[in-house]
Amino acid sequence: MREMLPLADAQQLILSRLSTVGTEEVELLDAQGRVLAEEIVARDSLPPFCRSAMDGYAVRAADTESKQQVTLTVVEELPAGKVAARTVEPGTCIMLMTGAPLPEGADSVVKREDVKRNGDEVVVPGNIAPGTNVDQAGSDMRQGDLLLHPGTVLGPGEVAILASQGYGTVKVYRRPKVAVLTTGDELLDISEPLVPGKIRNSNRYMLAAAVKELGGEPLIYPSMPDELEATREMLLRAGKEADLVLSTGGVSMGDYDLVREALLKIADEALFWKLQIKPGMPVVSVIGNGTLYLGLSGKPNGALLNFNLLARPAIAKLSGKNTYFSSRIKAVLENDFPKASKGRNRYLYACACFDGVWKVRRITGGHLSSLKGFNAFIEIPAGSGPLQAGEEVDVILLDNLEKESE
Ligand code: AMP
Ligand code: MG
Repeated sequence: MREMLPLADAQQLILSRLSTVGTEEVELLDAQGRVLAEEIVARDSLPPFCRSAMDGYAVRAADTESKQQVTLTVVEELPAGKVAARTVEPGTCIMLMTGAPLPEGADSVVKREDVKRNGDEVVVPGNIAPGTNVDQAGSDMRQGDLLLHPGTVLGPGEVAILASQGYGTVKVYRRPKVAVLTTGDELLDISEPLVPGKIRNSNRYMLAAAVKELGGEPLIYPSMPDELEATREMLLRAGKEADLVLSTGGVSMGDYDLVREALLKIADEALFWKLQIKPGMPVVSVIGNGTLYLGLSGKPNGALLNFNLLARPAIAKLSGKNTYFSSRIKAVLENDFPKASKGRNRYLYACACFDGVWKVRRITGGHLSSLKGFNAFIEIPAGSGPLQAGEEVDVILLDNLEKESE
């Protein structure tokens, strides 16, 4: 088992062992946030016919050529959704609404605000260029165009494109099942009253929320006692039921840190133990029965950092997304950080925002209270720091933009 890996090596190792989960067909109304698993090709050209882009009058541009203005006879009024009964002959026009098909004979539309109407007659400006205010057939999409690639995260815009092409259902990757296990005899469930020596199990809920946020389906297991055989059995079971297994605690140097030992017993391949990061150094990863296991740090701040640096790209790959990593930016630090970063890269929970330039503020507090409101990590490379307000720092932005980009 490789020890004390640089983060990037661990990430590559994990990703190299994963492939996407299977697919399923979902109703379009349930497609929001899902990852597309098929190519979407335009079934029809859009718009399917030439149509008016404005409420106004369909005219023949030739009637207006070299004239200051021209008087035309209105021969029909056409709402959207209907086809004109008449043709626009020279000297005539048809009043029509936005979205109505351009009547035969006409090639342009004059906006309603630009005309003077008197009974059946209308005065329109001269020198109208052919094609004015007309959406040409196929100007938006052409039949056969590749509209969406597999791996695209479906949002409102993509759903609109699918609807416009008549896709009532769509093939997406199923949500990866992510097992959430916790360990430690000190843990109580949140419904239990506190008693001496015990704390509530916050990691379970934290990880379940983190998995859901990324589009995974958390599978929650009972907390494991600090006992080797029970730990091994629960990990084994989770590996059979889930696409990815996350556990927290039991991976450092304590006498009861049994998760690493249990994982090694079920491992076909031991990937690594410990990373060059702080917090969250003692994370362990193995492959057992073809499933990736990540034994995360027990401390909440270490566990959630481990999750974002390792489980997040893993879930992105399992989910079928085409990009796995969060954006990295440079930002101006808003508050000091008094410690130096020695042998390992240090990560600070932070809140980043764009205010003309990117700014970032580290969130102060303890293992849990510093998790409030973060949307980024400040990365302090080993050998640097302390940091002062005003310095430029490296930031990992958790923008959920592991989206497909062309
Ligand atoms: P361990 O890695 O098991 O030694 O745990 C490290 C620290 O994290 C200890 O203080 C644990 O009590 C705490 N911890 C472990 N698991 C959890 C959990 N599920 N929820 C909250 N704190 C935890
Ligand atoms: Mg423990």
